[in-house]
Order: sequence, then structure tokens, then C-alpha cells
Amino acid sequence: MTDRDYPAEVDVAIVGSGPTGAAYARILSERAPGARVAMFEVGPTVSDPPGSHVKNIADPEARAEAQRRSEGRGATGGAAASPVEMAGRRARAGTYLLRDGFQLEGEDGIPALAFSSNVGGMAAHWTAACPRPGDSERIGFLPDLDELLDEGERLLGVTVDAFDGAPFAELVRQRLAAAVDAGRPAERRVQRMPLAVHRRADGALVWSGSDIVFGDVTRGNENFTLHDETLVTRVLLGDDGAAAGVEVRDMRDGSPDESHTVRARVVVVAADGLRTPQLLWASGVRPAALGRMLNDQPQVVFAARLRDVEPPAAAEGRAGALSETSGVSWVPFTDAEPFHGQVMQLDTSPVPLADDDPVIPGSIVGLGLFCAKDLQWDDRVEFSDAERDDYGMPAMRIHYRLTDRDRATLDRARAHIVELGAAVGEGLDEKPFTLPGGASLHYQGAVRMGAQDDGRSVCDPDSAVWGVPGLYVAGNGVIPTATACNPTLTAVGLAVRGARAIAAGLGAGAGVAR
Ligand SMILES: Cc1cc2nc3c(=O)[nH]c(=O)nc-3n(C[C@H](O)[C@H](O)[C@H](O)COP(=O)(O)OP(=O)(O)OC[C@H]3O[C@@H](n4cnc5c(N)ncnc54)[C@H](O)[C@@H]3O)c2cc1C
Repeated sequence: MTDRDYPAEVDVAIVGSGPTGAAYARILSERAPGARVAMFEVGPTVSDPPGSHVKNIADPEARAEAQRRSEGRGATGGAAASPVEMAGRRARAGTYLLRDGFQLEGEDGIPALAFSSNVGGMAAHWTAACPRPGDSERIGFLPDLDELLDEGERLLGVTVDAFDGAPFAELVRQRLAAAVDAGRPAERRVQRMPLAVHRRADGALVWSGSDIVFGDVTRGNENFTLHDETLVTRVLLGDDGAAAGVEVRDMRDGSPDESHTVRARVVVVAADGLRTPQLLWASGVRPAALGRMLNDQPQVVFAARLRDVEPPAAAEGRAGALSETSGVSWVPFTDAEPFHGQVMQLDTSPVPLADDDPVIPGSIVGLGLFCAKDLQWDDRVEFSDAERDDYGMPAMRIHYRLTDRDRATLDRARAHIVELGAAVGEGLDEKPFTLPGGASLHYQGAVRMGAQDDGRSVCDPDSAVWGVPGLYVAGNGVIPTATACNPTLTAVGLAVRGARAIAAGLGAGAGVAR
């Protein structure tokens, strides 16, 4: 599927191979199979099929190498394997941190702001939790949001039963439910976490990455090409102000450092929550809302232990059911309790336990609460015309502050997570741990969608950039609401809407030179 030769001209150029870029490729392959679609990804192909999750790589050394190759050009790559290990500015495996400009004097900043650069993007490394947004997380001006989320679930291969064999998962949910379910509508009660994970016929778990989103239809589409190790440096605009193509640079070792032009009728920028606005900025597309209303979900974690349980009989768990994240439960966000709870049973404790106190697998429960941020116009990423990042793109500076309301929400989250821990069993930590800003890995808002072109948004409900025909944006940055839930399902749903609009617009002209 990967290709070294750059085409001179395509119908659609897609920048970035994460799940939202892949969603465009998939829907276009289904709806406009005659359209020539080229995808450009700055990082290398680290897994097979391209874009697949590195957890599916059985050999630990090969997996570690795939993670390392995803960690970009800087020297700030992944050291922490889990959020619980993140004591400070540390990156998760497969990711790397923004080197400079992450925290300005007197501001909170986003110290753990991270990226992945590889085919499949962050979704080659993600936890694959795919909850639906609820209450004020939802995008009120999209009447078709639920249908888009259905489609997102189809593309990502979301299931709820992959960990049904995990010991104590039902018990954990019963205990959480007793603590929080009263007064909640059915869909907002404690339940199994929808996960982009499925079980193969032989019982092995398969974690979805962009490979699942591409699907056979994209891999089999002879009009689709994926060009890895290729940086898009600029979206080209025509004299009419419309998108006209992309300028790309071959990043392979030893390649001549020269630019190529690929003409396109439509350009989709799906280059993550920070690098999508970066590429628009580099291309001279600089609407007032670009980079603004940036938001990341403040996060607290806590660990508890089920004390009053017996080791499960061996037959109870399905083969392979026990893994680092066996049993993932969901405490949905509500406006009344504005936290998204992700509860994962662990095989080992994140905090040291006494040697003579062996852990019953599945009895350690890691609790995480993500909070919705108070959105502010001045929380933003700025780009420099003078300074460059490790890829030669405009350097980023993050302006970011927590508000009094954010601090109050965090206080409530810390109290709530201790209550949840007590409901489940016995707290293992003295107090909850507040992760450094950015640890959520969910960066939203910087190319936000709006119902009208009122200067407060970057794109319309189809993700088309206001005032630049043929230019679309994708990813978590498009989400305009203050979500607490993991955003990828929502971002993929929004990509489905945009891709359908492109397919409809290409119509009979697809595959024919302009
Ligand atoms: C450890 C971890 C756990 C996570 N867990 C969850 C979870 O449980 N649930 C959830 O919803 N989300 C989770 N996430 C976040 C999730 O992975 C992202 O939301 C998702 O991958 C975003 O998809 P995307 O396509 O918008 O961007 P990305 O996946 O980041 O992909 C963007 C791609 O664009 C490429 N790119 C950038 N600039 C350029 C350029 N100029 N030219 C060419 N290519 C470029 C990048 O290299 C990258 O590969 C997690 C992430 C990590 C790392």
C-alpha cells in the first residue's frame, strides 16, 4: 500500500495517517472509488499491515523498536509505559514531547504535550477507549451526530465484549454502579467501556489502529496510495484562494532534500491537534480562531484493590483475557458529575506492595478521571514565522491557563475518585495523583468546528475550512465542545461527515484531471 513515487496530481490529498485521516481514505474508497487519493505521513511505517497497533506485535523487542521509531526527531521520546508512571514531564511509549514553548512564564502550560510520528499516528499506541460523548460534550448543531458515531464505531471496529472473560470486571462495575448510577439515564450508567479491540477466532486480542479504519476496501483501492516518511510543508492555494495541492518533502535517510508538488482538487489536513493548525499557519491560512480555544482534559488517577475476592478458577478467564488492561469499565460523563471515568483492572500494582502480599490478577483497579476544561479564547497555540521545530515547521508556543473553575473541578475530581476507589475496595495510594497537563493526549479545539462563520471557528459542520474551498481539517482539534471523554470516536465521526461531503462534491468528476 505504501508508495515511493509521488503523483503529479490527485483528486484528494490527505495529510496524516492517524485514524481520522484513515477515515477519509476509507469513506472515499467506499463512496468514490474512482477518485485518486494520496495520503502523506511524515513518520515511518512501523507495523504490518501499515497503521496497525504496536500491541499486536508479539515480539517485545520488535514492539519496542516500533515504539521508538514513532517518537519523532527530537530526543524526548517515550519513557513512561502508563499514565501512573508519569511523575513529571515524561512521554508515553510511542510518543514524544514538545521540546520548547510548552509552559510560558506565569502560565500552567501543557507540559506533557505529546505527538506520535508514524503510519497510524497515536492510534498505533492508544488505549482504544471509544466512549460516546454525552450531555454538554455533544455538538448541539449536528443533528446526525449519533449516526456519525455509529459509523465511527464501524470504522474503528468498536466492541464491548473483548474483555468479558476478565476476572472481577462485573463485580467492579456493580460496586461503581452502586456509588454513582442513582438518577442517571440508562446510557449514562456504569457500563463496559466500548473499545476498538476485537478478539480473533483463535482468542487473540486485536487492537484497532488505522489499519482497521482503512480496511480491505482502502488497501484494495488501486486509486489510493500512502506515502510514508513524507512531510507536507505547505497546502498550496490557487489564485482563486481554493486549495490546489500540497508541497511535500521526502524525509527518508539519504533522500535529496527537495520539494515536490502534488496538485489536488481537495486537501484534508489530519495532522493531529497541534500540527493541523501548524500546517494551515505555514500555508498562510490564518483565520482568527486558528490555534485558539485549545483544550486538554485535566486528569487524576488513583488505585484501589479488591480485598474480599478469591483467585478466579483458571477456567473462568478466556485464554489471553488477562492482560495489562483486562476489564475496562466506564463511568460516563454527566453535566452533574463532569468527569469521564476510565477504570482498568491491572495485573500488577502501580504502587509497591509488600512481598508477602501477592496480587490476585485483576484485583488491582486503576481509576482515571478526565475533566472537561473551561474553554478560553486565549488558551492557544501560537506559531512562529522565525523559529522552526525539529521538522523545519513553524515552532509552537503554548499559552494555557487553568481557570478557578478548572481548579474547583479538579478538587471535585480528586474527592470523587477517592469515593470511587472506596466503593471498589481499598485505596492503594494516600491520595489521588494529578497528572501533568497534556497527559490526556486529547488536544482539542485548535481548528474547531462552528455552525456559522462568526470568527470563532475554523471550519464548518462538514470540516471544510471557512473561506478556503477544497480545504478540510480533521482530528480532535475540530471538536468544539469541552469534552471529558476520549475524543477519537467523535473525531472519526466528524471525519465521516467531511469525507461524505467530499465524495458527493467529487461526483462524476472524480478521477478526471481538472
Ligand atoms: C498512549 C495513548 C493512549 C491513548 N488512548 C486513547 C483512548 O483510549 N481513546 C481515545 O479516544 N484516544 C486515545 N489516545 C489518543 C488517540 O490516539 C488520538 O486521539 C488519535 O490517534 C488522533 O487521531 P488523528 O488522526 O487526529 O491524529 P494522529 O493519530 O496523531 O495522527 C496524525 C498523523 O499526522 C502526521 N503528521 C503531522 N504533521 C504532518 C505533516 N506536516 N506532514 C505529514 N504528516 C504529518 C503525524 O506524524 C501523525 O502520524 C491515546 C493516545 C496515546 C498515545
